[in-house]
Amino acid sequence: MKELTDRIKENGRVLGEGVLKVDEFITHQVDPELMDAMGKRLAEVFAEKKITKVVTIEASGIAPAVYAAQALKVPMIFARKSKSLTMDEELLSASVYSFTKQVTSTISISRKFLSADDNVLLVDDFLANGQAAKGLIELCQQAGADVAGIGILIEKSFQDGRQLIEDMEIPVVSLARIASLSDGQVTFLEEDA
Ligand code: 5GP
Repeated sequence: MKELTDRIKENGRVLGEGVLKVDEFITHQVDPELMDAMGKRLAEVFAEKKITKVVTIEASGIAPAVYAAQALKVPMIFARKSKSLTMDEELLSASVYSFTKQVTSTISISRKFLSADDNVLLVDDFLANGQAAKGLIELCQQAGADVAGIGILIEKSFQDGRQLIEDMEIPVVSLARIASLSDGQVTFLEEDA
Protein backbone atom coordinates (compact mmCIF):
# COMPACT_ATOMS: atom_id res chain seq x y z
CA MET A 1 0.00 0.00 0.00
CA LYS A 2 1.74 3.10 -1.29
CA GLU A 3 0.61 5.51 1.45
CA LEU A 4 2.15 3.20 4.06
CA THR A 5 5.43 2.49 2.28
CA ASP A 6 5.85 6.23 1.54
CA ARG A 7 5.26 7.03 5.21
CA ILE A 8 7.73 4.38 6.37
CA LYS A 9 10.33 5.90 4.02
CA GLU A 10 9.60 9.34 5.46
CA ASN A 11 9.13 8.66 9.19
CA GLY A 12 10.30 5.08 9.91
CA ARG A 13 13.58 4.60 11.73
CA VAL A 14 15.64 1.42 11.69
CA LEU A 15 16.93 0.38 15.10
CA GLY A 16 19.58 -2.31 15.52
CA GLU A 17 18.47 -5.96 15.76
CA GLY A 18 16.07 -5.76 12.83
CA VAL A 19 13.52 -3.49 14.49
CA LEU A 20 11.65 -0.71 12.70
CA LYS A 21 10.44 2.21 14.80
CA VAL A 22 7.17 3.72 13.56
CA ASP A 23 6.14 5.64 16.67
CA GLU A 24 5.47 8.82 14.63
CA PHE A 25 2.36 7.34 13.03
CA ILE A 26 1.49 3.80 14.27
CA THR A 27 2.83 2.58 17.62
CA HIS A 28 2.75 5.68 19.85
CA GLN A 29 1.46 8.75 18.02
CA VAL A 30 -1.24 7.59 15.61
CA ASP A 31 -2.11 9.15 12.26
CA PRO A 32 -5.88 8.57 12.14
CA GLU A 33 -6.22 9.29 8.42
CA LEU A 34 -3.57 6.76 7.46
CA MET A 35 -4.93 4.28 10.03
CA ASP A 36 -8.44 4.71 8.61
CA ALA A 37 -7.16 4.09 5.07
CA MET A 38 -5.25 0.98 6.21
CA GLY A 39 -8.25 -0.37 8.13
CA LYS A 40 -10.44 0.15 5.05
CA ARG A 41 -7.88 -1.60 2.84
CA LEU A 42 -7.77 -4.66 5.12
CA ALA A 43 -11.57 -4.70 5.25
CA GLU A 44 -11.68 -4.57 1.43
CA VAL A 45 -9.26 -7.48 1.07
CA PHE A 46 -11.32 -9.68 3.44
CA ALA A 47 -14.74 -8.35 2.38
CA GLU A 48 -15.95 -11.69 0.95
CA LYS A 49 -14.93 -13.76 3.99
CA LYS A 50 -18.03 -13.11 6.11
CA ILE A 51 -15.97 -11.87 9.07
CA THR A 52 -17.91 -11.67 12.36
CA LYS A 53 -15.15 -10.33 14.67
CA VAL A 54 -11.79 -8.60 14.36
CA VAL A 55 -9.30 -9.78 17.00
CA THR A 56 -5.98 -8.20 17.96
CA ILE A 57 -3.56 -7.90 20.88
CA GLU A 58 -2.93 -4.82 23.00
CA ALA A 59 -1.55 -2.21 22.63
CA SER A 60 -0.43 -1.27 19.12
CA GLY A 61 -2.78 -3.71 17.33
CA ILE A 62 -5.81 -1.86 18.67
CA ALA A 63 -5.73 1.15 16.34
CA PRO A 64 -5.58 -0.77 13.03
CA ALA A 65 -8.02 -3.39 14.34
CA VAL A 66 -10.67 -0.87 15.33
CA TYR A 67 -10.54 0.84 11.92
CA ALA A 68 -10.74 -2.51 10.12
CA ALA A 69 -13.65 -3.55 12.36
CA GLN A 70 -15.47 -0.29 11.71
CA ALA A 71 -15.10 -0.78 7.96
CA LEU A 72 -16.34 -4.39 8.23
CA LYS A 73 -19.13 -3.30 10.62
CA VAL A 74 -18.24 -5.96 13.21
CA PRO A 75 -16.97 -5.76 16.82
CA MET A 76 -13.25 -5.62 17.63
CA ILE A 77 -11.78 -7.58 20.55
CA PHE A 78 -8.28 -7.03 21.88
CA ALA A 79 -6.50 -9.73 23.85
CA ARG A 80 -5.16 -8.40 27.13
CA LYS A 81 -1.60 -9.00 28.22
CA SER A 82 -2.30 -8.74 31.93
CA LYS A 83 -5.35 -9.98 33.72
CA SER A 84 -7.64 -7.17 34.76
CA LEU A 85 -9.51 -7.42 38.07
CA THR A 86 -12.72 -6.89 36.15
CA MET A 87 -12.07 -9.97 33.99
CA ASP A 88 -13.97 -12.29 36.32
CA GLU A 89 -15.40 -14.47 33.56
CA GLU A 90 -13.97 -17.64 32.13
CA LEU A 91 -10.92 -16.82 29.99
CA LEU A 92 -9.30 -18.11 26.83
CA SER A 93 -5.51 -17.89 27.40
CA ALA A 94 -2.25 -18.48 25.54
CA SER A 95 1.45 -17.73 26.07
CA VAL A 96 3.19 -15.29 23.72
CA TYR A 97 6.88 -14.51 23.48
CA SER A 98 7.34 -10.85 22.57
CA PHE A 99 9.92 -10.15 19.89
CA THR A 100 10.49 -6.54 20.88
CA LYS A 101 10.24 -6.87 24.67
CA GLN A 102 11.89 -10.33 24.89
CA VAL A 103 9.51 -11.53 27.59
CA THR A 104 6.78 -14.18 27.61
CA SER A 105 3.32 -13.02 28.61
CA THR A 106 -0.07 -14.65 28.96
CA ILE A 107 -2.70 -13.14 26.69
CA SER A 108 -6.40 -13.57 27.35
CA ILE A 109 -9.86 -12.87 26.02
CA SER A 110 -13.10 -13.46 27.91
CA ARG A 111 -14.74 -16.56 26.56
CA LYS A 112 -18.06 -14.76 26.23
CA PHE A 113 -16.71 -12.66 23.32
CA LEU A 114 -15.71 -15.53 21.00
CA SER A 115 -17.64 -18.66 20.07
CA ALA A 116 -17.77 -21.44 17.50
CA ASP A 117 -20.10 -19.21 15.44
CA ASP A 118 -17.32 -16.67 14.84
CA ASN A 119 -15.26 -16.21 11.71
CA VAL A 120 -12.34 -14.09 12.79
CA LEU A 121 -10.01 -11.65 11.05
CA LEU A 122 -6.81 -11.22 13.08
CA VAL A 123 -5.13 -7.81 12.74
CA ASP A 124 -1.77 -6.62 14.07
CA ASP A 125 0.69 -3.80 13.43
CA PHE A 126 3.73 -6.03 12.78
CA LEU A 127 4.40 -9.60 11.75
CA ALA A 128 7.89 -10.67 12.79
CA ASN A 129 8.30 -14.25 14.05
CA GLY A 130 4.55 -14.80 14.21
CA GLN A 131 4.34 -15.49 17.94
CA ALA A 132 1.66 -12.88 18.61
CA ALA A 133 -0.41 -14.21 15.69
CA LYS A 134 0.08 -17.80 16.86
CA GLY A 135 -1.16 -16.88 20.36
CA LEU A 136 -4.24 -15.19 18.90
CA ILE A 137 -4.91 -18.24 16.69
CA GLU A 138 -4.74 -20.44 19.81
CA LEU A 139 -7.34 -18.25 21.56
CA CYS A 140 -9.65 -18.58 18.55
CA GLN A 141 -9.12 -22.35 18.46
CA GLN A 142 -10.00 -22.62 22.17
CA ALA A 143 -13.30 -20.87 21.39
CA GLY A 144 -13.89 -23.13 18.36
CA ALA A 145 -13.89 -20.02 16.13
CA ASP A 146 -12.51 -20.10 12.56
CA VAL A 147 -9.64 -17.80 11.59
CA ALA A 148 -10.41 -16.54 8.07
CA GLY A 149 -7.18 -14.59 7.68
CA ILE A 150 -4.58 -12.29 9.12
CA GLY A 151 -4.24 -8.64 8.15
CA ILE A 152 -0.91 -7.02 8.99
CA LEU A 153 0.28 -3.45 8.51
CA ILE A 154 4.04 -4.14 8.33
CA GLU A 155 5.50 -7.57 7.64
CA LYS A 156 9.20 -8.14 8.18
CA SER A 157 9.53 -10.79 5.50
CA PHE A 158 13.08 -11.66 6.55
CA GLN A 159 11.63 -13.23 9.72
CA ASP A 160 9.65 -16.48 9.98
CA GLY A 161 6.13 -15.24 10.81
CA ARG A 162 4.53 -15.56 7.37
CA GLN A 163 5.82 -19.11 6.92
CA LEU A 164 4.53 -20.12 10.36
CA ILE A 165 1.03 -18.82 9.58
CA GLU A 166 0.92 -20.12 6.01
CA ASP A 167 1.89 -23.57 7.32
CA MET A 168 -1.41 -23.43 9.25
CA GLU A 169 -3.16 -22.67 5.91
CA ILE A 170 -4.31 -19.25 7.08
CA PRO A 171 -4.06 -16.46 4.47
CA VAL A 172 -1.78 -13.56 5.40
CA VAL A 173 -2.18 -10.11 3.83
CA SER A 174 0.37 -7.41 4.65
CA LEU A 175 0.07 -3.78 3.56
CA ALA A 176 3.86 -3.33 3.50
CA ARG A 177 6.43 -6.11 3.19
CA ILE A 178 10.00 -5.42 4.22
CA ALA A 179 12.74 -7.54 2.66
CA SER A 180 15.56 -6.13 4.76
CA LEU A 181 16.49 -3.59 7.41
CA SER A 182 20.24 -4.01 6.87
CA ASP A 183 22.61 -1.05 7.15
CA GLY A 184 19.90 1.17 8.59
CA GLN A 185 17.97 1.02 5.28
CA VAL A 186 14.41 -0.18 4.65
CA THR A 187 14.16 -2.34 1.53
CA PHE A 188 10.63 -3.34 0.49
CA LEU A 189 9.51 -6.49 -1.32
CA GLU A 190 7.75 -5.60 -4.57
CA GLU A 191 4.45 -7.27 -3.83
CA ASP A 192 2.23 -6.00 -1.03
CA ALA A 193 -1.47 -5.30 -0.63
P1 5GP B 1 5.95 -11.52 16.36
O1 5GP B 1 5.10 -12.09 17.45
O2 5GP B 1 5.39 -11.69 14.99
O3 5GP B 1 7.39 -11.96 16.47
O4 5GP B 1 6.02 -9.96 16.64
C1 5GP B 1 4.87 -9.21 16.51
C2 5GP B 1 4.74 -8.20 17.60
O5 5GP B 1 6.00 -7.65 17.99
C3 5GP B 1 3.89 -7.07 17.09
O6 5GP B 1 2.67 -7.13 17.80
C4 5GP B 1 4.69 -5.82 17.39
O7 5GP B 1 4.08 -5.16 18.48
C5 5GP B 1 6.06 -6.26 17.79
N1 5GP B 1 7.09 -6.02 16.76
C6 5GP B 1 7.76 -6.96 16.05
N2 5GP B 1 8.67 -6.42 15.26
C7 5GP B 1 8.59 -5.09 15.44
C8 5GP B 1 9.32 -3.97 14.88
O8 5GP B 1 10.22 -4.09 14.05
N3 5GP B 1 8.94 -2.75 15.30
C9 5GP B 1 7.95 -2.55 16.22
N4 5GP B 1 7.65 -1.30 16.54
N5 5GP B 1 7.26 -3.58 16.78
C10 5GP B 1 7.58 -4.84 16.39
